[in-house]
Amino acid sequence: MSVQSVGIIGAGQAGFQTAASLRQDGFDGQIALIGDEPGVPYQRPPLSKAYLLGKIGLEALRLRREVYFAAHRIELVHERAVAIDRANRRVRLKSGSSVGYDHLVLAVGAHNRALPVPGANLDGVLGLRTLADADELAVRLKHARDVVVVGAGFIGLEFAAVASALGASVHVLELADRPMPRAVSVETSRVFARAHEAWGVRLDFGQALARIHGRDGAVDHVETTDGRRLPAELVDFGIGVLPNVSLASEAGLDIENGIRVGSNLLTSDLAISAIGGCASFPNSHSGELIRLESVQNATDQARAVSARIVGKPGPYIAVPWFWTEQRDLKLQMAGLSSGYDTAVTLGSPEARSTSVLCFRAGRLVAVESVNSPIDHMIARRVLARPTPALSPIDAAAPGFDLKAWEAASKTAPRRPAIPSGAELMEPTQ
Ligand SMILES: Cc1cc2nc3c(=O)[nH]c(=O)nc-3n(C[C@H](O)[C@H](O)[C@H](O)COP(=O)(O)OP(=O)(O)OC[C@H]3O[C@@H](n4cnc5c(N)ncnc54)[C@H](O)[C@@H]3O)c2cc1C
Repeated sequence: MSVQSVGIIGAGQAGFQTAASLRQDGFDGQIALIGDEPGVPYQRPPLSKAYLLGKIGLEALRLRREVYFAAHRIELVHERAVAIDRANRRVRLKSGSSVGYDHLVLAVGAHNRALPVPGANLDGVLGLRTLADADELAVRLKHARDVVVVGAGFIGLEFAAVASALGASVHVLELADRPMPRAVSVETSRVFARAHEAWGVRLDFGQALARIHGRDGAVDHVETTDGRRLPAELVDFGIGVLPNVSLASEAGLDIENGIRVGSNLLTSDLAISAIGGCASFPNSHSGELIRLESVQNATDQARAVSARIVGKPGPYIAVPWFWTEQRDLKLQMAGLSSGYDTAVTLGSPEARSTSVLCFRAGRLVAVESVNSPIDHMIARRVLARPTPALSPIDAAAPGFDLKAWEAASKTAPRRPAIPSGAELMEPTQ
């Protein structure tokens, strides 16, 4: 059956990109983009960076202006989807109305893991996921002197970087023994730990939060598991995310650390795809199911689904890449470093310009580049080869240069490959 109408649930990065790509790819049927957040779709990465810092405004966050949606016949439905009627191919909305579809794309993203300690409901204890969260945190940061950040993952550290730049006294609690422990190598963690310390951020590793104490309903101080009390007017937590699976699981779709899809991004119902932060898909290299929280994954998967709908199907294969910005540090990662056994550091970690090449069983699996955008771009090309034939011994040779090596080694045919690994933005506590 040819697809005449596409329903998309979730008007975030992946949902928006699906609609935009469908029109770019020449799809002429109906598109309903159903989202439960107000306004037009926006990008999340600046929420914990330039937007929180006040360097950019709302306009810069928007993925498109309102006129774009009308001009491209993309119906923006500002509602929460509450059920999927698979037999009749309809999405039921909270208001009681419904939207029909020939093909449905689930792009419902993820939500923040809740802070599992007493006092988590006090005023001033906040996570960061949405524009509304960022607006609230920005207001609080104007007045808060003592800020406690729970979790030294990407978003926690980005928040700590902004809060310290705005003059707050910032204390980060992290259960692991280093920052961003599941997503980056020990070597890259070290660069970030040193930088945060230089900015005056106190990093407390091996520390969990025991409880949050309040006064008159608002946070006053936190207590760590080793019994210390830290003053806090604001507590920001970033302890990982969980995929939004309830809609799919109630509809009887397969769930496994996200909405389970095949390499074609189809769920167990061939009329439904799932993409972005809610979907777990087979790693094209190892076959193991992975779920990635990144803009690149959301947008690339959206493009792949659009291509399939307009009749150009193909498996989803891409080298994962991701970035984080913390004050003057920009880290760009290509591949997945989890499980690496050898690391070779290029450049100068002290001068905050370095790349860490991560190998597993002699194979290059990831490159983490701090303030080295050229290395990052080369890494993405090298990792896309079926066998990125760079050995740790070659890389560790004195005077090794990635650019020169790539130029000298342009013989292998290129086919994208994804090194195995877990989700990029894993819970940090
Ligand atoms: C603060 C922050 C900073 C980040 N920084 C980076 C970064 O630097 N680099 C990077 O690559 N990634 C970053 N990310 C991650 C990136 O933003 C996500 O991976 C990406 O947004 C995932 O896109 P998505 O469309 O899958 O989910 P989302 O963008 O989360 O969109 C899902 C949408 O679906 C809606 N929805 C859910 N259920 C329903 C329902 N039943 N009915 C209707 N609507 C529904 C949600 O409200 C949401 O609007 C960051 C994330 C955050 C929160």
